Formats: sequence, C-alpha cells, structure tokens
Amino acid sequence: MTKAFDVAVIGAGPGGYVAAIRAAQLGLNTVCIDEFKSEDGKASLGGTCLNVGCIPSKALLESSENYERALHKFGEHGIRVKDVSLDVAAMLARKDKIVQQFTSGIGLLFKKNKVTSMHGHGRLTGGGESYQIEVSNGGTSETVSAKHVVIATGSVPRQIPGLAVDNVRVCDNTGALSLKEVPGRLGVIGAGVIGLEMGSVWKRLGSEVTILEALPVFLGAADEGVSKEAWRIFTKSVGLDIKLGCKIGAVKAGKKSVSVQYEHEGTATVAEFDRLVVAVGRVPNTRGLGLETVGVKADARGFVEVDERNRTVAPNIYAIGDVVRGPMLAHKSSEEGVAVAETIAGQHGHVNLEHIPWVIYTAPEIAWVGRTEQQLKADGVAYRSGQFPFIVSGRARALGETAGFVKMLADERTDRILGVHILGPFASELISEAVVAMEFGATAEDIARIVHAHPSLSEALHEAALGVDKRFLSL
Ligand code: FAD
Ligand code: AMP
Repeated sequence: MTKAFDVAVIGAGPGGYVAAIRAAQLGLNTVCIDEFKSEDGKASLGGTCLNVGCIPSKALLESSENYERALHKFGEHGIRVKDVSLDVAAMLARKDKIVQQFTSGIGLLFKKNKVTSMHGHGRLTGGGESYQIEVSNGGTSETVSAKHVVIATGSVPRQIPGLAVDNVRVCDNTGALSLKEVPGRLGVIGAGVIGLEMGSVWKRLGSEVTILEALPVFLGAADEGVSKEAWRIFTKSVGLDIKLGCKIGAVKAGKKSVSVQYEHEGTATVAEFDRLVVAVGRVPNTRGLGLETVGVKADARGFVEVDERNRTVAPNIYAIGDVVRGPMLAHKSSEEGVAVAETIAGQHGHVNLEHIPWVIYTAPEIAWVGRTEQQLKADGVAYRSGQFPFIVSGRARALGETAGFVKMLADERTDRILGVHILGPFASELISEAVVAMEFGATAEDIARIVHAHPSLSEALHEAALGVDKRFLSL
C-alpha cells in the first residue's frame, strides 16, 4: 500500500531537513527523501552544505589557518615552535569526522522529531487529491503520496562545456575538499566565494595558487570599497595570483598535470598546474524530478519559479533554497524551509530576502548585509557613511588581525541603516548585529547609543555607526 504523508520534502540539505523538522514539529506527518551518497557509497543526510560545502570547507580553512599561524605568526607572540610539519591525511580525517558527526546528527534529529527518512531519488509522478512521488534506490523503487510537496533539491557545480571533472586532476568542490596531498601548482577557475576559499586553503598549506576569473571586476557583488581592499590584501599579503578578465580556452588533463590555455590582457598563455579546481558557480538541480508531470515551471536558467512565499504554480507544491531565486546560501535555504513548513501548517511563513547576510570565509573574512555603496549611488539614494578600520581596535591589535574595516551606510534623511560591509577578523560573527539592527529598522544613531563591550571587535561596528554622524571617538 502507498504510504501517505501530509508533507513530502525532496532533498535533505539545510533547506529540506529544516523544512521537514519544522513541519513535523507542527504536527504534520512528514517524509524527507534524499539521494546523496558520500564517497564510501553510504547515504548521508545534510546535502551539499554538510557533506561537500559549508562545513568541510570551514574545517579545512581553520586547519590551514592554524598551520599558517604556527609557521608565521606564533613567533611574534614569543612562541617558538620547531619542525612544524603537515599531515594532510590527519587534516582530512578531522574534516571527515566533523562531517560525519553532523550528517549522522540529522538522522537523530529526524528520529527525535518523527520525520520519516527515505533514501533514494525522488520523482514526481502524478497529482490529484495528493501528489505521488516515486523513490528509487538502485534497482528498487517505492511510491509515496503527500498532500504537500517541498522541492529542496539544491544545486550542483556549474560545468564548463567540454571540461570534464574527474575529481582527481580536475576537481569541483568535492575534489577540492579532499586533495590527498598539497599540489605544488594549483589552478582555480573562478574567483567567486568557493574559488577564493579553496584557493586560500591550499595556498596556506603551501601551493602556488593561480586563480583565473572571467569577469574584469573582482567580487562584483560586494561593496566596491571592500572588494578593492580585499583585492589588495589577497594579491599582495596572501599571495594569491588572481587574473581578471581571462578567457579560458582548451584544458587538457594529463596523468601528472593539467594544462590550461587562456587569454589575459591580450596575451595567450598556456599554464601548467598539478591540479585544477573549477569553481565557476552553481546551477539549480532539477534533474529527473518530474516537474513537468505536475506543471511546475522552471525559468530559463533552470530555477524553479516561486512567488514571495515560495509557492510554485502547482497547488501545494513549494520550492526552497538553491533551487529557487535568491542567494545560494545555506541559512537562506533553512529560513525558507521554516517559512514554508509554517505556511503549510496555516501560519504566515515569510523570509526577508533583503536582509540575508553574505559571508566569504577568507582571511580576513568578508561579510555584508543590505545594499552596497555602488547600488545606493545607482539608485540615487542619498546616504551617509561611517568607516572604521580594525587597526584602531584594541581587540584586533591583540589578535594580531588588523586588516580591514567596518563600513556602515545609512539613509541621509532618516538615518535608517541601509547596508553594513565588513572586511576583517570574525566578520562572519560581527555581521549578525547588523542583521538584527536592520531587521528591527534601526538607525545608525541606535547602534551608536548601544553599549558595546570593550575591548571587542564589535566596537568597530559601534565606531562605524558613530562615524555616520562624523563623531568617531577613537579615530
Ligand atoms: P543542497 O544542500 O544542495 O541539498 C539538496 C539535497 O537534495 C542533496 O542532498 C541532493 O542529493 C538531494 N537531491 C537532489 N535531487 C534529489 C532528488 N530528485 N531526490 C532525492 N534527493 C535529491 N553556504 C553558506 O551559507 N555558507 C557557507 O560557508 C557555504 N560554503 C560553501 C562551500 C562550498 C564548497 C559549497 C559548494 C557551497 C557552500 N555554501 C555555503 C552553499 C550551501 O552549501 C548551499 O547554499 C546549501 O547547501 C543549499 O541548501 P539546499 O538545501 O537548497 O540544497
Ligand atoms: P560564485 O558564484 O561566487 O561561486 O563565483 C563563480 C565565479 O566564477 C564568478 O566570479 C564568475 O564570474 C566566475 N566564472 C564563471 N564562468 C567562468 C569561466 N568560464 N571562466 C572563468 N571564470 C568564470
């Protein structure tokens, strides 16, 4: 007999597993279907984020930063370490353990919240009173039915036509997170978030890193002040060789190296790398999902079309996360998951896409929320700006992490905060205060009047707020 559910969630990434848990908490009989398998062939919950994205990349970023500290930074603290050496296998094992703990944790959360978990590929096969979903796993298949469906099938790496990824010599994010040894020469195509994070990891571990970017501008989505300073730091201090405006030609993978033909500033070059990482963005994943069977539409770029409350055109079918419009970020997916579960349960779920924080976990980190200075200029919005450098922060000095700044942009007339842009230590943590402030409609004056602990990095945000009114206390 077909198992019948109130809600079927397809995909158990940060969008899907959160949607399933929230739906079950609200009393809905919920199944979550996921097909992801880790390298050992075992089913693994948590999607891209937990398996081959956010979590493993942050584990390696931390390990590589520790290695670099031991090599180059401990000395100034008077800590002498001899014979620092690298055990890549141990580093990867630590990362794998963290991933395993988190992915198995999702299974426990499903049990605790009474979510039924099914492993296999989900395909919508029909509608009516309720929807039918075929779940196939190897040679076997089972069909379940559900009144409501949440599509949370995420994204997959964008491919360059004709360039085969084998995750040995030519890698996407999965391979880049599991290189067994430090490549002497690492090539990266794409200077976006993933390219910069992966490039930083392997650079700190000893690779010579060249990043080839198609666009003529660096980090175009970030505030121009931030991207300009980040460019200076990444190319000069960090030592990443980033080439903008590249046209990639033929890529040939041999047994020992990969050759990449590219054109840069009018000159044709062939570069030889030991490994190549392709990080040219991600595309929505709707492969074999049967969208057409139930009348769900995807746009020209493959994103499932939804309204502001994540409803597709098919009644009771929703879509969330990387597979729909908006930033491809884990926390955005999760919040949409909560909102959709609450909408299904008759509540008013809603996500404000205007205030999604963005973070790039380079060193220094980059984080922002709201609008950039160039966007405000283009839209003709009158604004005031306060910018405070970390070099003047006592806490940043004590940490030895003084690069970067906090910039706050506020409406000239109302003083309401329109954007906050941070380049610096723990920007990923600091940005939360700005998100809360903006969600509550705060003004720069509100932040200026709130007490911030001393010495803390958050004082830089406080000072930036004071700076909007040209009344810095430490500058
Ligand atoms: P996914 O996490 O992609 O999950 C979708 C799941 O659905 C997968 O398990 C997939 O196998 C499954 N699935 C797909 N189709 C079917 C089907 N038909 N049947 C059954 N199952 C199916 N974001 C951040 O916010 N912070 C970060 O630091 C960050 N770092 C990243 C680093 C890397 C290297 C990468 C690649 C991504 C990173 N991201 C980060 C992005 C983040 O991983 C994604 O935004 C997030 O995972 C999207 O969540 P999702 O639930 O929409 O989809
Ligand atoms: P992100 O979307 O943050 O993962 O960034 C992907 C980056 O890859 C962007 O900066 C793109 O401009 C870049 N990119 C996309 N296609 C190519 C290409 N064919 N060659 C080089 N860079 C590319």
